Amino acid sequence: MARKKEPDRKWLEAYAFQSERCAVCYWRKYRPGKRCELHHIVGRRGRDPHHHRNLILVCEECHRAYHAGISGKPLTLGHILKAKEEEDGEVDLKFLAGLKGRAGLKEDPTELPEWAKQERRRNAGK
Ligand SMILES: [Zn+2]
Ligand SMILES: [Zn+2]
Repeated sequence: MARKKEPDRKWLEAYAFQSERCAVCYWRKYRPGKRCELHHIVGRRGRDPHHHRNLILVCEECHRAYHAGISGKPLTLGHILKAKEEEDGEVDLKFLAGLKGRAGLKEDPTELPEWAKQERRRNAGK
């Protein structure tokens, strides 16, 4: 019988279940108006891309700000790493660099931009 290698997706569901809010702007997962989505911090390649260390829950707007860019809302990999660090208490840069392969990980956690901090204040308690 041929063995098919399926990506291990168990972390995906577990992480989505555990995370309460957008790690960047604190938009709560079940609040109507915006959806929250799982983002793969360094993409979907490597040996275990769906590992929780490579996942972060973000609202659809922050997700778009990162991938496509939104004017006035800069969001870099460094910011994502910072949000992950705050949310989980740590960020495993070595693991992420391993997923990135030979290119490595060139960014470190970076203080979040002012717009994200403002939205966090606005979304806190909602
Ligand atoms: Zn957000
Ligand atoms: Zn993404």
